[in-house]
Amino acid sequence: WSAETIAVVTGGNRGIGFEITRQLALHGLTVILTSRDTIAGEEATKTLLEEGLKVVFRQLDIVDHQSIELFCAWVKEKYGGIDILVNNAGVSHNTGSDNSVECAEQVINTNYFGTKNMTKAVVPLMRSSAEGARIIMVSSRLGRLNGRRNRIDDVDLRQQLEDVESLSEDLIDSTMNKFLGQVKDGSWINGGWPQNNTDYSLSKLAVNAYTRLMARTLSAWPDGHKIYVNCCCPGWVKTAMTAWAGHTSPEEAADTPVWLALLSGQCVSGKFFAERREINY
Ligand code: NDP
Repeated sequence: WSAETIAVVTGGNRGIGFEITRQLALHGLTVILTSRDTIAGEEATKTLLEEGLKVVFRQLDIVDHQSIELFCAWVKEKYGGIDILVNNAGVSHNTGSDNSVECAEQVINTNYFGTKNMTKAVVPLMRSSAEGARIIMVSSRLGRLNGRRNRIDDVDLRQQLEDVESLSEDLIDSTMNKFLGQVKDGSWINGGWPQNNTDYSLSKLAVNAYTRLMARTLSAWPDGHKIYVNCCCPGWVKTAMTAWAGHTSPEEAADTPVWLALLSGQCVSGKFFAERREINY
């Protein structure tokens, strides 16, 4: 890895994304810190530049198709391509044991559809290398398919989402849209969805499923053009998202995504990690 290696971090202006940006840059990479808010992004970038790191700011809102398009055109023009994408941007409106679905549309649109659209736009820009390009999804254990206490009731749906061969984008999208439809008509509460942080848990379940789907698709690419895609849970982290509750600092939380981004000599793809160890979906 060198300053020629280009990494992109979404939601890099604060929290875990800011720390991922810092730690990748500490390894000598050029990191593009993206933020939907220009002022916040420029401020965060300034902090890292003052630490002597090679960080460049660019505006990016992952729910805005035009913003994604403009970003990709800029990257292509300026750097020719991307080596590492860290999909970190996310939102949650559940605090503690509250289970609010008032913002379910925003949560699913950002965490799943935004992440998916960003990934799709970036894949054609990923550069060929012997090491392979990397995509890291910052997900959550709350999105576990087979979590004992927090899972979808429908066994058939769980099996379809689990079986990587039967998994499809349509299945993931339609599951999210079914939930959003039930939120609109008020029937979601009896829909058999995860009981805890329902909208957020489902958004991350979709991210995890999409990771495995992408890994399957990308595994067919020839050597030298490989892209490895994995997801991870950063733990329960002291950031704005948890109102600074949690056990883990953003610095510690950034460790596993950074490790996955820089993992060398291995071709792990489609797996779920926490604390540098593989965990079950
Ligand atoms: P923060 O709320 O501190 O940071 C979230 C970041 O995502 C912010 O930079 C935010 O931008 C950005 N963001 C939100 N929506 C968009 C969008 N549409 N386009 C671009 N950026 C956007 O939370 P964390 O640092 O804790 O969360 C980072 C990731 O880690 C998230 O994906 C989260 O789900 C995940 N995670 C966090 C856990 C925790 O305990 N904190 C646990 C498990 C997973 P802005 O500043 O403009 O709002």
